[in-house]
Amino acid sequence: MTEAIRKPVCLLCGSEKSKHYKQIESFGHPVSYYLCLDCGFVYQNEAETIAKDDSFYEENYRTLYQDTEEPTAKDLRQQTLRAFDQAQFLQGNHLAPGNILDIGASSGLLLETFQHEFGAEVTGVEPGNAYRALAEERDIQMFSSLSDLLETNYKPFDLVTMMHVLEHLPDPLETLRKIRKELLASNGALLVEVPNFYAHESFELAHLSCFSPHSLKEILHQAGFEIQAFRKHGYPRSKTLKLYIEALARPIVGEAEPGKVKPEACVPLKRSLSVYWRKMMSRLRPKDTWLEV
Ligand SMILES: [Zn+2]
Repeated sequence: MTEAIRKPVCLLCGSEKSKHYKQIESFGHPVSYYLCLDCGFVYQNEAETIAKDDSFYEENYRTLYQDTEEPTAKDLRQQTLRAFDQAQFLQGNHLAPGNILDIGASSGLLLETFQHEFGAEVTGVEPGNAYRALAEERDIQMFSSLSDLLETNYKPFDLVTMMHVLEHLPDPLETLRKIRKELLASNGALLVEVPNFYAHESFELAHLSCFSPHSLKEILHQAGFEIQAFRKHGYPRSKTLKLYIEALARPIVGEAEPGKVKPEACVPLKRSLSVYWRKMMSRLRPKDTWLEV
């Protein structure tokens, strides 16, 4: 591969102007993060990361992260708590979807919960073979990839959910646009949650993007969505750290040009302060900061 092809390209604004920001080692692999000099986004170079390949998620991802391809009890417990919290968030925003798609559906716990809470029809996309098999055992219609689903005769969805998925994608903006144009009903809604770069560790092999509240809003805007509700929270992991950011968004009617990405200033400084705060909270209020799940 030539130098030119390997040049980092910002996953938010597409700029090639960047500086090397952070080098880490994650699961035995070197991982480089870049800071976009045009918009302030922090991301991995899509051309050099191993975490962009489909095969990575089919078998390797869970094995690397949990030493097993099967879901762990801790994992399932966390997912159950999260699922009920997400259902409450949607109910609090007056959503009662009848037809739901979860991208990155894992073992289907979120969909199973939504099936009960909303009486909804549910569909999932999950590349991990072991997790998808568990969801199928729950009688959930599952696909191994978005492109497989797109080839079927599906009905547009009232709600598409992506919990901790966007940060893994090599083309997050394109995927959001595809969801808006091809998967969502015109009055549908999108629910997205990602780790918060200003509270969560964020740097790890499979995280190609590091989202802040600003850049999550910005990527949704660029993809043609407007935000209906936005929150930062730590549930169920922490009472003191807002580890996650979440947006409920609606497709903007008509094809309005989103304009240029609004840059975010002082990203490295905000990150440094958040790392300091996290250390302080971990030391001063360890039990509230890292809850037993
Ligand atoms: Zn950028």
